[in-house]
Amino acid sequence: MRYIESKEQSSELLRLTLPLMARQEAAYHPVSYTLWYEHVAGINPPLSIALNARLDANEPLTEDEVYRLYMRHVSERDAAVLDTLQQRLQTLLDDTAQTFNSAGEDTGQFARTLRTSRSDLAEEATAAKVQQVISRLLSEAQRMETVTQILTEKLEVRTTEVKALTQKLQQAQTEALIDPLCGIANRRGFVREAKAMIESGEGLNGCALVLADVDHFKQINDNYGHLLGDKVLRAIATTLRGQVQDRFLAARIGGEEFALLLPQTPLDKAREVAERIRSAVARGKILRDQTTEIIGAITVSFGIAVGGEGDTLEMLMFRADQALYSAKRSGRNQVCVDSLSTAEAQQSSPLPLSHQAGFASV
Ligand code: GH3
Ligand code: MG
Ligand code: MG
Repeated sequence: MRYIESKEQSSELLRLTLPLMARQEAAYHPVSYTLWYEHVAGINPPLSIALNARLDANEPLTEDEVYRLYMRHVSERDAAVLDTLQQRLQTLLDDTAQTFNSAGEDTGQFARTLRTSRSDLAEEATAAKVQQVISRLLSEAQRMETVTQILTEKLEVRTTEVKALTQKLQQAQTEALIDPLCGIANRRGFVREAKAMIESGEGLNGCALVLADVDHFKQINDNYGHLLGDKVLRAIATTLRGQVQDRFLAARIGGEEFALLLPQTPLDKAREVAERIRSAVARGKILRDQTTEIIGAITVSFGIAVGGEGDTLEMLMFRADQALYSAKRSGRNQVCVDSLSTAEAQQSSPLPLSHQAGFASV
């Protein structure tokens, strides 16, 4: 969404926003500022209803609630705009097609008149008959002129509308499908792309899904502030992008959660990718703004699942999430694989004969 308030108006909004933010538990970071800004500007009624309820109850908003409200009333709003625009474009194109169809009927009628006139004239023509044919042709030509003129005007209007809508659609698409903080797909963009991939025939069979969750991220925010937290998220997204290939899909699917979809990638390869990202992040250092303080020891846990025949995206996400949970439980900063994927990988590439029971290695 594009904000249209002038500098004066926005400075007045800033003045109104600060006392409201001061009453909350959440810090003064951009996400919470967006909520209160949209509220005092009166540009997001459903959000205002939610915030007013909290203000009336005198219950301060926590950090988690701020992020949840943002997802629900800001990110989702952008997605709803995208859907509406897509529907409008669809209707417009249907209308245009309809206009062309009726124009087609008109030209068909004109062609028929021409054919009849031609055969009428081929017969022995009396002066009266010729006169009749001429006046029929004249009136048909006039009708066609009007029809084509109307058609041209309609088409001009439609073309302008389509151009404007396409531009808006492009902007809405960016806002609704890309995470503005990290510049990669958000959850919605991820699900959309993944489903498109499934529908295009590739399916999820043989695809690896890697879920990543920053360890103790709440502590990073608490110790160094949310802006530094945001910087960490951006750095992780950059690492993710740097380590993956073009056809892989990388997304930030939640606050401090990321996903990678790797088409046609065996378990070993997916584990290698996750391991590379894990160690790159663990080795990385972040400079605290306006200081020389270097923050290290940021770690990420990973869960991997590989798709089987008939798997849905939801099933794959569930399994990768279970594996991620195991990584957290086993001490964090590690990569875990869901048990089904491990079993299937072993089945498809059995151990060399010399490693199996009953065969001695030579
Ligand atoms: P764990 O190792 O178990 O994953 O612990 P955690 O602290 O990382 O997980 P938890 O779910 O308790 O906390 C995640 C925090 O992430 C809570 C929320 O305030 C914060 N958060 C969510 N979105 C953002 C964001 O966009 N920016 C910043 N800075 N913080 C965010
Ligand atoms: Mg999390
Ligand atoms: Mg976490």
